[in-house]
Amino acid sequence: QNNDLSCIGCGALLQSEDKLKSGFLPASVLNKKNSEDPIYCKRCFRLRHYNEVQDIELSDDDFLNMLHELSVEDALIVNVVDLFDFSGSIISGIQRFAGNNPILIVANKSDLLPKSLQNGKVRQWVTEQVHSYGIRPQNVYLTSALSKKSVEDFMQNLDKERQGRDVYVVGTTNVGKSTLINQIINIAADTENVITTSYFPGTTLGKIEIPLDDDKILVDTPGIIQKSQLSHYLDAKDLKVVTPRKEVKPKTYQLNDDQTLFFGGLARFDYVMGESKESFVCYVSNELYTHRTKTEKADELYETQLGKLLTPPNLDSASELPALKRYEFKIKEPSDIVFSGLGWVSTDASDIIVAGWAPAGVDVTIRKQLI
Ligand code: GDP
Repeated sequence: QNNDLSCIGCGALLQSEDKLKSGFLPASVLNKKNSEDPIYCKRCFRLRHYNEVQDIELSDDDFLNMLHELSVEDALIVNVVDLFDFSGSIISGIQRFAGNNPILIVANKSDLLPKSLQNGKVRQWVTEQVHSYGIRPQNVYLTSALSKKSVEDFMQNLDKERQGRDVYVVGTTNVGKSTLINQIINIAADTENVITTSYFPGTTLGKIEIPLDDDKILVDTPGIIQKSQLSHYLDAKDLKVVTPRKEVKPKTYQLNDDQTLFFGGLARFDYVMGESKESFVCYVSNELYTHRTKTEKADELYETQLGKLLTPPNLDSASELPALKRYEFKIKEPSDIVFSGLGWVSTDASDIIVAGWAPAGVDVTIRKQLI
């Protein structure tokens, strides 16, 4: 039944099996339709009704075709990244996808960092980091997409940066790209009627086009899903606890080299070896519970308290969570141990050994200290 209907937006064959593939429509909707009805797939429906592009995996053929399309345009590529989940939101290969087009890095969620931190220092740090990924941006901006003022300032700068070009906005999911685009649409409110949705040629991927002052456009592209993101293992309630909303208040712990910190039941930090007591500063959501214990007791605590004392996850989602995987680091200079999608632990100590644990598939990495 119903298995040869096509979406009248993108032309994809409609299906109810895979949300990430083109032509998806939930079975409950699809089964009610018959061949006389004009039917949109979920992706096209959202695009038409909510000005919202849908997320997609980087490996998807349509997405790769879109990137190819982009590299032969004369355009400015705006890559939005998340200051709070920097390594998780970097698109390796963006420089290659951009072709000869200039790239602007927009580091979003600047409001989450301590107010005392100077913008210049953060921009310098972001620039160094993107260089280390082989990205050579034309410029780096800090934004808070939640603030209209911040986005207005950015739009003014963008007019200089783009030098008469079209603008394509790309980014992984959860970096705040939709929030940014919505602010841009708000700012361009008079021109609301001329916001258009269309398709990348030869793909089922929609795009939103917002007119700029000249006859150029700003294009929103599908968000890229990174499978390793912690958010895939959390339900909406847990995600709320983990995603910081306001300036993150650093929490400092003095630890001995046999002590462990748990971040709910989602991550664990061990001070493994060192000469003395050291100071560790945690940058995670203010709502996330941090628990200190002796390392020798940590395994048992995790086993008996996951989903209870150590929450999130909650008791239901705990069973879905992959076992914690351990990564060991020798610290030589002021560094951050980063739990992708969760936050980081910062230390000035040197010549110590620490370990970070996260659900298998979620990255734990070391980087030069940000704060
Ligand atoms: P997208 O997947 O990239 O489109 O991301 P969304 O726009 O849906 O944003 C993901 C989450 O980050 C939401 O909870 C937003 O409220 C939040 N968010 C977006 N921009 C900012 C920002 O500048 N600062 C803060 N604190 N949160 C933000």
